[in-house]
Amino acid sequence: MFDKILIANRGEIACRVIKTARRMGIATVAVCSDADRNALHVKMADEVIPIGPPPAAQSYIAMDRILAAVRESGAGAVHPGYGFLSENPAFPEALAEMGVAFIGPPKDAIGAMGDKITSKKLAAAAGVSTVPGCMGVIADADEAVKIAREIGYPVMIKASAGGGGKGMRIAWNDDEVREGFRSSKNEAEASFGDDRIFIEKFITQPRHIEIQVLADSHGNCIYLGERECSIQRRNQKVIEEAPSPFLDETTRKAMGEQAVALARAVNYESAGTVEFIVDGERNFYFLEMNTRLQVEHPVTELITGIDLVEQMIRVAAGEKLAFSQSDVKLSGWAIESRLYAEDPYRNFLPSIGRLTRYRPPAPRAAGPMLESGNWPDEAAPGATGVRNDTGVYEGGEISMYYDPMIAKLCTWGADRAAARLAMADALDEFELEGIGHNLPFLSAVMMHPRFAGGNITTAFIDEEYPEGFRGVDLPGDQLRRVAAAAAAMYRVTEIRRTRISGRMDNHERRVGSEWVVRIGDREWPVTISADPAGSDVCFEDDECLRVESDWLPGQSLARLSVGGGALTLKVDKLPGGFRLRLRGADMRVQVLTPRQAKLACLMPEKQPPDTSRLLLCPMPGLMVGLAVEVGDTVEEGQALCTIEAMKMENILRAERRAVVARINAAPGQSLAVDDVIMEFEQDV
Ligand code: ADP
Ligand code: ADP
Ligand code: MG
Repeated sequence: MFDKILIANRGEIACRVIKTARRMGIATVAVCSDADRNALHVKMADEVIPIGPPPAAQSYIAMDRILAAVRESGAGAVHPGYGFLSENPAFPEALAEMGVAFIGPPKDAIGAMGDKITSKKLAAAAGVSTVPGCMGVIADADEAVKIAREIGYPVMIKASAGGGGKGMRIAWNDDEVREGFRSSKNEAEASFGDDRIFIEKFITQPRHIEIQVLADSHGNCIYLGERECSIQRRNQKVIEEAPSPFLDETTRKAMGEQAVALARAVNYESAGTVEFIVDGERNFYFLEMNTRLQVEHPVTELITGIDLVEQMIRVAAGEKLAFSQSDVKLSGWAIESRLYAEDPYRNFLPSIGRLTRYRPPAPRAAGPMLESGNWPDEAAPGATGVRNDTGVYEGGEISMYYDPMIAKLCTWGADRAAARLAMADALDEFELEGIGHNLPFLSAVMMHPRFAGGNITTAFIDEEYPEGFRGVDLPGDQLRRVAAAAAAMYRVTEIRRTRISGRMDNHERRVGSEWVVRIGDREWPVTISADPAGSDVCFEDDECLRVESDWLPGQSLARLSVGGGALTLKVDKLPGGFRLRLRGADMRVQVLTPRQAKLACLMPEKQPPDTSRLLLCPMPGLMVGLAVEVGDTVEEGQALCTIEAMKMENILRAERRAVVARINAAPGQSLAVDDVIMEFEQDV
């Protein structure tokens, strides 16, 4: 076994490889560009070697720099991760010349599979079912039209050197073929420096289902079940799962055996993935083979209990696979959500910036495997697991130089529904602020009836969100639970706000029990009766929901029990209420006193009073001091005035930066609850 390996990659996959290597007692060497000096993979590794400027072409893809680092480190083997040099056959070749092992397949297998036309020919020769279409390079637009007509519309125009969803077009008629041929060719030339184009049938109702294979250098080759990756945007995966809800045992076996046949045909070693497109009748066709560890490999690990990185390292060290096909058992269900720094409200445009808050849910063991090397005992019935693979940290930057992936959140459950609901919960718990990200979108998909039913295709996102993602409207019963939670939380906030130090005994009396909760144009008058353990929030129809939580005002995540069920909310305090986020919904929730609500009813368009511009008196009392004047700019937390109540002085402070527009009270004046003491300018 190797003493030391170098990881020629960055981000979550470098961290992932380091974890397994460490567990195996192998020392690790990280490489980093100048943009990554403080990156997580650098902190985790035993050694680090800087390799150059931020652009990947001058660091992570610059083979001479990586090779120099390998030489300097004295590592016995290199894991390439995915992307960068992982599928460049010249890399293992150069390593071999240095006497260093490549933790991946032989260079010839990479070369054969790196080209879509070559690999399709090879697959057909190995008896693998391929998408009907041409297997040669297409010369010009006229020939493209001729071939497209022969195949029959619709067709898919593809770049032979393509990857990452690039250089691909669907065409439904001659004109679209001409246009698609030109644009694919240009994109392929620009992205890959190789403009060879081919055409195949576009499979309708397509599902992307891929087979994980694993082979050693002693002629053993097995498959580890499938992953379904049909939830894609721009032909790129966002949500993956294993197993597939669409496959039966017969199809799984047929696909597995064809994948193994293809791997054998190229003398494959290490972990690899054979991608298929599957139509509505469960006909499956070879798409391509990825000769590397796949981004979504964790879902396979979670249902097989096999650590793929460990297997890759063992195979590279010449070991035989310790298990055979019949030993591979699939247990339960796993789902992966890729959290990307991209804005779902703006057509998934990448966003960059600093992660001001990054709090993933805690990992939790269940199922065959959670973290690498963590083999929990038989899980309790109903238990679900959580795993999060990441390369970022709170305060870190998502830069423009690399892939905008923040984390891969995985859950495991005994069945698909359990894994899916565990994912919805885990996403509710995941705190991510500072940059645009797709978390609300992932939550929305988890709760989407069509996804829940497993009725998915690669067109899911386009079909279900034709106008783009606009957030989620929660069902009525769920809104009511949110309203109950908001009322209880607001009451606690108000008690806090009006609490008078030293006189805690009867402070709750000043905060009423009647409230009106508003979300959008819906309104719920409620009555709260509180006790030390929680509150009963009762609605006009006499339904009461018990709300219990350890939430405290100021906390950004609230874990509550509402009506006996769990509810997790992301909370931002707003004047007169909260911004609450859960399950892909993003809501402004107002909690008003009946008096405020009544006033609001008298206003046109039922607009609630905008108390954000007002300083209201929180308790009956006497103004004894005024600290500001009209026209002053006040900062958040700055003292505004002092109210004496029950012989205690209470300083009222600004909730935010603002300019004082009006002052309605003077020292010596007595005030009632909700009297408007001060008004602020609309904008600062
Ligand atoms: P997966 O099927 O696992 O999503 P992809 O083929 O989409 O794999 O790509 C996985 C990773 O490899 C991504 O980070 C992607 O950006 C990178 N990648 C894919 N193809 C290329 C390529 N031709 N050149 C550089 N990076 C690539
Ligand atoms: P890449 O190398 O970019 O990953 P693939 O050939 O794997 O390219 O295709 C990426 C995605 O494009 C697939 O997952 C699938 O959603 C879609 N796709 C590719 N070929 C076809 C086809 N013939 N019919 C329908 N969809 C296809
Ligand atoms: Mg692919």
